[in-house]
Amino acid sequence: MALVVQKYGGSSVADAGKMKHVAKRVIRGKLAGNDMVVVVSAPGKTTDNLVEMAQLISPIPDEREMDMLLSTGEQQSIALLTMAIKGMGHKAISFTGQQMGIRTDASHTKARIVSIDGSKIKKALKEGKVVIAAGFQGTDAAADITTLGRGGSDTTAVALAAALKADVCEIYTDVTGVYTADPRLVSDARKIDRISYEEMLELASLGAGVLLNRSVEFASNHGVKIHVRSTFSEEEGTMVGPTMKDMEKVVVTGIAHKKNEAKLTLAKVPDKPGIAAGIFKPLADAGINVDMIIQNVSEQGTTDLSFTVMKSDLDKALAVMEPVKNKVRAKGLRYDDKVAKVSAVGIGMRSHAGVAAKMFDALAKAGINIQMISTSEIKVSCVVGLAQVDEAVKVVHKAFGLAKRKKK
Ligand code: ADP
Ligand code: ASP
Ligand code: MG
Repeated sequence: MALVVQKYGGSSVADAGKMKHVAKRVIRGKLAGNDMVVVVSAPGKTTDNLVEMAQLISPIPDEREMDMLLSTGEQQSIALLTMAIKGMGHKAISFTGQQMGIRTDASHTKARIVSIDGSKIKKALKEGKVVIAAGFQGTDAAADITTLGRGGSDTTAVALAAALKADVCEIYTDVTGVYTADPRLVSDARKIDRISYEEMLELASLGAGVLLNRSVEFASNHGVKIHVRSTFSEEEGTMVGPTMKDMEKVVVTGIAHKKNEAKLTLAKVPDKPGIAAGIFKPLADAGINVDMIIQNVSEQGTTDLSFTVMKSDLDKALAVMEPVKNKVRAKGLRYDDKVAKVSAVGIGMRSHAGVAAKMFDALAKAGINIQMISTSEIKVSCVVGLAQVDEAVKVVHKAFGLAKRKKK
């Protein structure tokens, strides 16, 4: 008998029909002789709607109350799915984060799991029940409800799989696995059969929304193998696990993109020691993550300095930069919220030269201007205009030969 952790995303439990379909799939696992722990997300767009509602009440909602609100989405799903399974004649019980003993730190809306006391889950499993677990939520030391950040149900699933020493962690979603690019954008993207934690973590961090980056990090740290697959098909999905020797032969594994970026530029900043620290320390103090940074060649003792932040942090970043601009005697502060990032990822890059050049060439041939570049051992990222990013993903995907081979 195996212990299986499954996670069903919001689109998989969006309405009553889909909920019943999931119930049947869970029961099948149970009837096959497995202990089943099933993590669910809020139905469909519930979380988005709750965020919108909060913003109508308050432009910057109180974070403790935000968690109180957002956690209700998952509570709907666990109750409904449990009713469906019981209605089909099987034993099941729903648990909130607190009931499962999911303890987090106190950073509301982006909490991290500190420990899991799975005793209640184990007891229910012993009683032959299917456990239906609320994703995305936990409680802190003060017993306040916390949430794990958008997409956090993936992390709940991986963390439960680690804590319960599950045999498999299956992430069910609306696509059949991890693809070489977002299959909604690139119609000939190919499903990847096996991918390393390292590459998956980069892809997820660079915008491949199919898994939350934090869940991949957790899986890698605890050796949890993830199977990403579709709720609506029997097809084998993608296995995410440790790096295997043969994976290194593939130079580029996938292309990711992110549309929620914004660029700020401080114009004509004096080119002298301490200026960069003077600019980036206040941003860090305000909790704003800076992604790419570019400093232009110095001209007559001044330089233009540009950097990118998440679009949702733009207003905050502008507010932080206004006094900094005067302090460092910059001549101006500009921003552009119509930028996006396209990235190529692959562990094979470590041993192959020319990846960046190939990517730049593909973008140039398509007439796409590169505004910023950053590279690491296993990725190359370029900032381009938002209007061109879809095309950029397609041409880079093609340049690296990632497309499905056409049937003759
Ligand atoms: P869920 O609600 O199940 O958590 P998500 O919407 O969070 O689902 O994630 C699935 C979506 O991720 C897919 O519908 C797809 O559009 C998107 N996606 C982005 N990049 C990729 C990729 N490389 N491979 C597969 N899906 C991707
Ligand atoms: N419901 C939450 C969200 O929409 C968590 C999740 O779906 O993973 O972000
Ligand atoms: Mg998701």
